[in-house]
Amino acid sequence: MTTSQILSQARQEKRTVLTEIEAKEILKEAGIDCTTTVLAETREKAVTVSEELGYPVVLKVSSVDISHKSDAGGVKVNLKNRAEVEKAFDEIMTSCRVYAPDARIEGISVQPMARPGTEIIMGMIKDASFGPVVMFGLGGVLVEALKDVSFRIVPIDRVDAAEMLDEIQGKKLLSGYRGKEPADVARLTEMLVKLSDFVNATPGVEEIDMNPVFAYQDGAVVVDARIILSA
Ligand code: ADP
Ligand code: MG
Repeated sequence: MTTSQILSQARQEKRTVLTEIEAKEILKEAGIDCTTTVLAETREKAVTVSEELGYPVVLKVSSVDISHKSDAGGVKVNLKNRAEVEKAFDEIMTSCRVYAPDARIEGISVQPMARPGTEIIMGMIKDASFGPVVMFGLGGVLVEALKDVSFRIVPIDRVDAAEMLDEIQGKKLLSGYRGKEPADVARLTEMLVKLSDFVNATPGVEEIDMNPVFAYQDGAVVVDARIILSA
């Protein structure tokens, strides 16, 4: 579905929360790379999709009522074969039904397991006085603990985006600290500009959360995304 179709469908259903699949489709249309993510309503379809995408895969609960999927036992990573996918499908369903008995579960999403990279978070929130602001930070435990993030008011250009990367305390981690793979700073900069352009062109989006994004020497990919629409 296109962005405008996804947005109008959500409005029709009086829904402000988009699923990860919907959020990634929208971000892809905005020019931001995301892992291919396909809905499987049944265990059999989860296997078919996994075989098409290629192992290893990740399975996640797809529910507009469960936005923090791990908390619900709704994420299983690094599944290497049919048996593991079938088992993960059942375990996610059981666990999520216990965690949130009233949740509408439309199925389970399947995506390729992304190779580990530097963990980044990017997003957009609305500030009461400044309106939409984009956010960049280091992901994983660091960002939760240190709140090592930078912000800019939308719209931003490449220079602003480059400054955002430069402002974080842990910026050394982007340049291949202690032999680790450096992050593609040019691509991360471009992603922030694309995020800002999308927000600027699309009224009615309240919040965007890409957490985590895996950055590599060559490129970066969004592995989880949440979008909230304005009420
Ligand atoms: P939550 O809703 O709990 O934030 P996520 O989709 O972020 O769920 O998944 C939890 C964690 O699983 C992520 O932080 C990441 O470490 C890992 N993960 C999720 N999707 C992938 C993927 N496609 N490839 C590799 N790791 C992934
Ligand atoms: Mg996440």
